[in-house]
Amino acid sequence: MSNNEKASILIIYTGGTIGMREDPVTKTLAPMKFGMLLDEIPELNKLGYSISSITFNPPIDSSNMTPAIWAQLAKTIQKNYTKYDGFVILHGTDTMSYTASALSYMFENLDKAVVMTGSQLPIGILRTDGKENIITAVQIAAAKRDGRSIVPEVCIYFDSQLFRGNRTTKKDSAQFSAFASHNYPALAKAGVDIVYNYERINYPKNKGVLKINTAIDDRVIILKIFPGLNRHYFESILQLQDLRGVVLESYGSGNMPTSPWLVAAIKKASKRGLILMNVSQCPGGKVLMGHYETSIELQKAGVISGKDSTVEAAVTKLMFMLGQNLSHEETKYYLSNNLKGEIEM
Ligand code: ASP
Repeated sequence: MSNNEKASILIIYTGGTIGMREDPVTKTLAPMKFGMLLDEIPELNKLGYSISSITFNPPIDSSNMTPAIWAQLAKTIQKNYTKYDGFVILHGTDTMSYTASALSYMFENLDKAVVMTGSQLPIGILRTDGKENIITAVQIAAAKRDGRSIVPEVCIYFDSQLFRGNRTTKKDSAQFSAFASHNYPALAKAGVDIVYNYERINYPKNKGVLKINTAIDDRVIILKIFPGLNRHYFESILQLQDLRGVVLESYGSGNMPTSPWLVAAIKKASKRGLILMNVSQCPGGKVLMGHYETSIELQKAGVISGKDSTVEAAVTKLMFMLGQNLSHEETKYYLSNNLKGEIEM
């Protein structure tokens, strides 16, 4: 806590609709300066916290998010870690789930809240959802029990719900409830009171200094399976020379066609050292390899089950683990296991 026991919060503004304004000439939405954004929410002062901010330059539409910016975010939080009680990241909704997942893997010994939020309507618009999202995100970032952060995780607060970030998916581009966490319950719900789901929040087992690991390998791809998938395209992609990892988006509980050419292409890729993960196209439920005969062959080929992972959490985990330069077996081991609450074991 700062001198006068005020909670201190750092808001990191990366861009997104929340801070956008309509260009009077072109009528397109583009990010505005953060000072202007804060001027739109004088209510924040009423919280009585000490709030500081950092703006990423330039603020971006999150469609332009990159692993380099994930690293910049992790470094910014590490650099400011001891100075603040909690962190709020303002971020566009389009790729917020990817960033939240990547950040969750990059932090070690996180014991303060990193709450991501944004909005569907820019802050300057009368009906904006941005004000409530920011105000409550700041309150959650500051919330403590017995002197410790109530939610020491990378999470997303949106439309009255707080989710574990690496469990989320953007599900709606028009409703205020932009995010869902299909396979894990909300960590908190904000109604008249903010009610925390303490049993479902991860608390660090050991106390230690915050460490970050920002190594990422982008030699990965997501391949969605669909009826009529072209053999030539599929084989060619798996043969790409320096490709190292593939997230296969399968059907239902992890099923794919049993066509011999498809199974052969996967086996060949796996033998060549590629790491393949099986994640379902269904947002709810999980991959059960070997449950149907259509997935037994994948299991035999060494494809890793993504279990109940989102695609966002799986692809960022793959990029992160490949970035660690571990042996093939170690990489597969960590990918199959729970790192930061992204899968149920
Ligand atoms: N395209 C915007 C972004 O992701 C959408 C949003 O902020 O909701 O930055």
